[in-house]
Amino acid sequence: MSQANNDFLDVSRWTGKIYSNGWVTAQGGTQTVTAPANGAHLADVGRATPDDLRTAAAAASLVQPVWEATPGAERAKILNKAAEILQANADELAPWIVRESGATAPKAANEIAHSAGFIRAAAAAALENHNTTLKSVDGRNAQEEMIRVPHGVVGVISAFNFPLFLSIRAIAGALATGNAVVHKPDPRTAISGGVIIARIFEEAGLPMGLLHIISGGGDVGAAICEDPNIAMVSFTGSSAVGAKVGEACGRNLKKVQLELGGKNAMIVLDDADMDVAASNCAWGAWIHQGQVCIAAGLILVPAAKAETLAAALTAKAHRLPVGDPATEQCALGPLIVEAECKRIEAIVEDAVAKGATLHVGGKAKGTMFPATVLSGVKPGMRAFDEEIFGPVAVIASFDDDDHAVALAKMSDFGLAGSVIGGDVARARAVGNRLRVGHLHINDQPVISSPLAPFGGRGKSGNGTRISGPAIWEEFTQYVWITTKPAATAYPF
Ligand code: NAD
Repeated sequence: MSQANNDFLDVSRWTGKIYSNGWVTAQGGTQTVTAPANGAHLADVGRATPDDLRTAAAAASLVQPVWEATPGAERAKILNKAAEILQANADELAPWIVRESGATAPKAANEIAHSAGFIRAAAAAALENHNTTLKSVDGRNAQEEMIRVPHGVVGVISAFNFPLFLSIRAIAGALATGNAVVHKPDPRTAISGGVIIARIFEEAGLPMGLLHIISGGGDVGAAICEDPNIAMVSFTGSSAVGAKVGEACGRNLKKVQLELGGKNAMIVLDDADMDVAASNCAWGAWIHQGQVCIAAGLILVPAAKAETLAAALTAKAHRLPVGDPATEQCALGPLIVEAECKRIEAIVEDAVAKGATLHVGGKAKGTMFPATVLSGVKPGMRAFDEEIFGPVAVIASFDDDDHAVALAKMSDFGLAGSVIGGDVARARAVGNRLRVGHLHINDQPVISSPLAPFGGRGKSGNGTRISGPAIWEEFTQYVWITTKPAATAYPF
């Protein structure tokens, strides 16, 4: 039976509201959501204050024990229903993602389908048994078990670039394992990263009070890290803010999961098919305007092939129209705000001033930043050293495989890496030397799977992972239980 609803996202239901025990007025008033492509007013959501957050967290902690005691099969049923509702309403929801986040229509459709897949994987995880008996080793005649229990209330804080998906992957995993959730989306994508999620779980019949969607700014995020009712924080965003979140959670002795930035090396070996490699580089560097944590942020190519690769990418860049994906056929939409364009223009200018070649692009019009190609990029240039988070293909050249690995490992980040080469064993051997959380051989790095543990090393995270087996690893903790048939006396 279809779960589609003609006005699923009816704005009158949530204008000026946050979702906290139903749709309620936020203490911080309203917050306008605008389209990055043209500044058009899209809607007004409620703007939460830290006080709203505290109220939400307290309410969530009251109902969480009931959810924890609910059989996994029941939790799975509700999650699966939410996935079904999300997909059934995709035609209505995708245009919101397009307008609010500047996504192209295929990116928005893919984000919805992918999010539904992650909810279903979390639903399946809810059915898993992670309780085991232990051997009693000290002769105390006790039956011993270790069981895994949810943390309680999980605070989720997410980024703007895949607003629905990044929020869902944490929320679904936390709910599946019996936690309640208080979620703060990025205020620039409060609809795709918040309202849509509230609506699908509301319609799926998730018991009231288990999921709170509190749209607000950094002050609300900071309050999540301080709140005594919140036991764990799942954060997706920049390494700079992640460090603050980690520090606050450490001070408050909360578990924290940090999914942070990346400067992902994509190594093209000399035996690679250059046309195929160029196509992989173009996708990895420019998809969603390069606003992807696992984007191909540093393309490493043998010096003798650098010109060929730069020319192939430049030709592709000329064929990729930039525009408003809500009204035009385009391959690239806008960046999230104009300030990002200015920041990225400065990175390109820095590279050129220090000797890099700009082949195409490099200048924005408003929020529209075209596909850009830089070659001859070297350490010491911002384009080499920093995560760009924009549509810039950064080409640096290497002398041999050792040099390629050394250049890739100059970054403090360690999220994803990829190697393209004709000899798959050699490509894998090169890849094995990278310090990354995801390694892709003969593929570009913008890939994620509901069954795979996602996360990075170095400054890309704190050693935690999200999704796949990490659902149980991160969103639950062990309890050791011993049971004696009857109490017996001790020497005292
Ligand atoms: P950001 O760190 O500025 O913001 C992320 C979230 O943190 C937002 O919801 C924001 O409101 C909130 N926030 C801001 N200040 C806070 C504070 N003091 N305490 C708590 N929360 C606070 O991120 P951004 O720059 O907007 O997003 C892009 C970054 O996110 C890039 O670095 C990108 O690589 C990273 N990212 C990582 C992943 C991943 O899975 N590893 C996925 C997407 C994006």
